[in-house]
Amino acid sequence: MHDVIIIGAGPAGLSTAFWCDELGLDTLVLEQAEEIGGQLHRVYNPIENYLGLKARNGKELLEHFAANVDSAEFDLWTQTSITSVDLKARRVSLASGEELQSIAIVIATGIKLRQLGVPGETEFAAKGMIESGARDRHLFAGKDVCVVGGGDAAVENALLLAEVCPTVTLVHRGKKLRARREFIEKLQAVHCITVFTESVLTRIIGEDDVIAVEIQRKQGLKPFQVAVRGVLIRIGVEPNTEVFKDQLDTDEKGFVVVNSVQETNVPMVFAVGDVSNPLAPTISSATGAGATAAKVIASRLNARAAK
Ligand code: NDP
Repeated sequence: MHDVIIIGAGPAGLSTAFWCDELGLDTLVLEQAEEIGGQLHRVYNPIENYLGLKARNGKELLEHFAANVDSAEFDLWTQTSITSVDLKARRVSLASGEELQSIAIVIATGIKLRQLGVPGETEFAAKGMIESGARDRHLFAGKDVCVVGGGDAAVENALLLAEVCPTVTLVHRGKKLRARREFIEKLQAVHCITVFTESVLTRIIGEDDVIAVEIQRKQGLKPFQVAVRGVLIRIGVEPNTEVFKDQLDTDEKGFVVVNSVQETNVPMVFAVGDVSNPLAPTISSATGAGATAAKVIASRLNARAAK
């Protein structure tokens, strides 16, 4: 029996673990990946808004976090797959067959990028799909590319790629881009970016490599093709909640609903970080939420012990 089981070792899970450790709780962190860090592995641009620390990218910030992990005393199990969780009973079953029990559970499973689900998206994953404009643009310098999406992520990536690519085709299903004004103003000043609104990408075409995309305009009769060598898709994110499905209150997009102390509708089950924060998914709010959850869990456990 542990005091706390934390599921996920990204910034939110690690922060919860530091605080639980600091507060003297018996804490176990379960992480399915080989390494801790979660989404920090996919942040390729400088991090300049995390108070007190600047980092060239997510991995550099993770090095600072990892230094704390080394000195803390909580248990951390990486490469650990969970097969099921009974939240009410606070029991976790692992792929290894082991069963774990705790007084509190903290869900810190983060989010994943949404997939478009069109032909070619999976087939060209390692040979034409661009994972990140910041990381991959040198690979696509001098090549025409396509970006799908209309939010901050799509427009920011289109701007980055436009610095090195002759043309960038931006495809957005809505009438208006929904990215922040600063990005839209920059986009309007870049002449090599062509924006197709009210349009959907229907197919990624190629043989060994990507050679074109097929686009269908809402008002158009027939789809048409644009020659490109790379495609980047940024159509939002979805929370990693499969293993808890139907046991928790979630919003219409599946994000876990929490109260002001990060507790879900199931007593002693908390959620921290992006999995429960669709409106402000930042590293700062993730680490702050972890501290809040840990303090509340510790005070509840102390109150029980005092009875
Ligand atoms: P958003 O949810 O903000 O935008 C997703 C976009 O993808 C929308 O325009 C949406 O269209 C479109 N979309 C969704 N599903 C589909 C689909 N199936 N087919 C086609 N288009 C689809 O997500 P982002 O990834 O842009 O950003 C995620 C979060 O990260 C946001 O909070 C954002 O502010 C933040 N962010 C911040 C950055 C920064 O501060 N520098 C940079 C990047 C991201 P529709 O409008 O029609 O719904």
